[in-house]
Amino acid sequence: MTQVLRKFGVMGGTFDPVHYGHLVTAEAARREFGLERVVFLPSGAPPHKDPTGVTDAEHRYMMTVLATLSNPHFDVSRVDIDREGVTYTVDSLRILREIYGESTELYFITGADAILEIVSWKDPEKLLELAHFIGATRPGFSLDRVPQSTQEWLSHHPERVHMIKVPALAISSTDIRERVRTGNSIRYLVPEPVEHYIRRHNLYKHNL
Ligand code: NAP
Repeated sequence: MTQVLRKFGVMGGTFDPVHYGHLVTAEAARREFGLERVVFLPSGAPPHKDPTGVTDAEHRYMMTVLATLSNPHFDVSRVDIDREGVTYTVDSLRILREIYGESTELYFITGADAILEIVSWKDPEKLLELAHFIGATRPGFSLDRVPQSTQEWLSHHPERVHMIKVPALAISSTDIRERVRTGNSIRYLVPEPVEHYIRRHNLYKHNL
């Protein structure tokens, strides 16, 4: 058995755009799980989304870089956006395990809503072998709404699937896009450089 020498977080998301809720989530997970580093992984073409409904990957990547620059524990990976075709998380985690080595334990962090769908992702059992999973819940989230079958599946893997409460996830990318589209302020919802980037590149002015 390989000895675990370090623990890295992998923050998976579309980040369309990245916002303070994501940054607070990554920092909370880092502290709670003793992660040395959190690598943000903007998605390429995730299997559950129509690519025409998502902003260009290079813009999402650039905004994520701008948002994370000031935290020495944060990094951004191009592993998903540089891959052709549909990007499954199981493949991303395999690649990251190769890059960081067997002695690095991975903690995949994302929204609880997404984590609770994990049973429908490609190769769920392999996913749990490759990483721990941390689901970040928004205010108002309740496990009661989760289907019984998912709850049962989760209860079989209590040591690999974790939940954290993140009040700052009251902020959402959907709301930010809508605010920009309707001319409302997004100040204090996203880091200032991200706000400037959105304005400079005229993002979210129209429904995709
Ligand atoms: P999504 O469906 O856009 O988001 C689900 C919810 O989670 C939204 O409320 C979203 O809020 C929130 N969320 C997303 N990323 C988050 C993060 N890192 N921290 C906290 N909250 C987050 O989910 P998605 O972004 O497309 O997918 C999440 C991750 O799961 C991605 O890495 C994706 O590749 C992976 N995934 C893999 C498969 C598969 O392999 N079959 C299938 C589905 C998803 P915001 O909109 O505010 O971010």
